[in-house]
Amino acid sequence: MQPTKNRNHPSFLLHYKEENILFDCGENIQRQMRIAGIKPAKITRILISHWHGDHVFGLAGLMSSMGADQYAKKLYLYGPKGSKEYLNHLFKSFAANDIIEFEVKEVEKGLFFENEDFQLEAQPLKHSAPCIGFSFKEKDRLRIDLAKAKKMGLKEGPILGKLQLGETVQHLGKKIKPEDVGYVIKGKKISYVADTLPCEGANKLAQDSDLLISEGTHLSDIEEKTKKYMHLTVKDAALLASENNAQKLIITHLSPRYKSTSEIVSEARTYFDNTIIAEDFMKISV
Ligand SMILES: [Zn+2]
Ligand SMILES: [Zn+2]
Repeated sequence: MQPTKNRNHPSFLLHYKEENILFDCGENIQRQMRIAGIKPAKITRILISHWHGDHVFGLAGLMSSMGADQYAKKLYLYGPKGSKEYLNHLFKSFAANDIIEFEVKEVEKGLFFENEDFQLEAQPLKHSAPCIGFSFKEKDRLRIDLAKAKKMGLKEGPILGKLQLGETVQHLGKKIKPEDVGYVIKGKKISYVADTLPCEGANKLAQDSDLLISEGTHLSDIEEKTKKYMHLTVKDAALLASENNAQKLIITHLSPRYKSTSEIVSEARTYFDNTIIAEDFMKISV
């Protein structure tokens, strides 16, 4: 919520193949990226959960720097209703040079981007400003078992290529289905539940996630205050993970009132054991 000596505003970078997707863009993000050794010009998409300052104050600086670094692509931004207007105002509020080419898409619910490798989905959250959460879903892939294929007399080439794409083929007068020679590797799901009260959208995002990144602003002893500001407690975040079959939980967006994370870890692990607390520059492989 507020940066502290050890903790920056929220931002997460998801690196997958050619994509570098930034979730939210807290203040000071460009310096954090430089410390982490990640070039801002590598960013391909920015997903904004909502327009409270702690989630967007880094945008002007980051996008200006990307312009100064001669960002050659078009940057895609996705955010809740109102995002286009906010961005227009933002770049009118200072002498903006070198602004990169960008396109803003306002999204509400469901699938909003898809390519051959993955999908991006949004769900509405319940917060004091229009707010959405996001899921990154890798597509399932078929891995051919080469030993099995060889036994069936199949050699590498167009036939195996077709099977890999999920097509049934004819070989020596027999029908061969993809699952006869291979096995499905389930795609990974990574979700981000930003500022919210417990709600249906948060459950949908969390459902079967390999990694769930969720806000957890306070411990549950001050739940009333947490609800008043429309946030999740640490307990809420842990229940969100456990009740929706998530595999791993990272809690973020802690109030600056907590100087240490030990109580947060212990409350979270009471309800969901595989929880860690986000730290600046943390790297996780999924
Ligand atoms: Zn926030
Ligand atoms: Zn907020």
